[in-house]
Amino acid sequence: MKRTPLIAGNWKMHLTEAQAVTLARKLLWGLTRLPAGGVEVLLCPPFTALSSLHKLLISDPIRLGGQNMHASTQGAFTGEISPLMLAEFCQYVILGHSERRALFQETDEDINLKARSAVQHGLVPILCVGETLAERQAGRAETIIYAQLMAGLQQVGIHRGSQLVIAYEPVWAIGTGQTATPEVVNQLIAATIRPALVRLFGEPVGQAIRVLYGGSVNAGNAVVFLSQPEIDGALVGGASLDSDAFLAIVSAAL
Ligand code: PEP
Repeated sequence: MKRTPLIAGNWKMHLTEAQAVTLARKLLWGLTRLPAGGVEVLLCPPFTALSSLHKLLISDPIRLGGQNMHASTQGAFTGEISPLMLAEFCQYVILGHSERRALFQETDEDINLKARSAVQHGLVPILCVGETLAERQAGRAETIIYAQLMAGLQQVGIHRGSQLVIAYEPVWAIGTGQTATPEVVNQLIAATIRPALVRLFGEPVGQAIRVLYGGSVNAGNAVVFLSQPEIDGALVGGASLDSDAFLAIVSAAL
């Protein structure tokens, strides 16, 4: 099945609002020099930059996403952001990133509540799944990923593949410069992630959901990952803060 590649930049807790606007302007200019269409580009800046980037990108095809959200629409949740607030500016939201799981103790149950809420409010969750190094070395990568998908996606009410994105991000490859082998990622998606999606959502919807790879993707290695038939794009951390590197990754998807 043909799925439009998605290249997503996760800017994490980097860049002031002014710096974010500068980077977005550079990306906009660079994207105008690439052939139009064929790849979807998504930026996930800090919350403080969403409003400005929304104004800047209003007539451009670049999409915006949040890096996290609370499952509730409003309430006494100091420091949190709601799906209604994100939906004013964003089409997507990253959920279950390994940094949220490890540093903020997010469980599959928390992530499931957020995913259900995101879909209810018209946001496309990018659900991150992936194993730690210890889990991989113990031969448990597939079991862990399958369990994360089943728990994170139960009762998530989607009817089209475009309403959900999965990012396979081995924890040991995030921000480390170490990458998984592209062929191994391809095989893991084919044998574990895609069957889980088909089991959860049925054949046509499960086949249409995009599955990204994330973990130290850069301008030099993007082509080999993106040429794998099961890898539908990339979730990019560090390299997304460099306009030239990010544009090279977008080009590699064309
Ligand atoms: C990420 O944070 O999702 C990520 C993949 O980071 P990096 O590209 O820096 O490994």
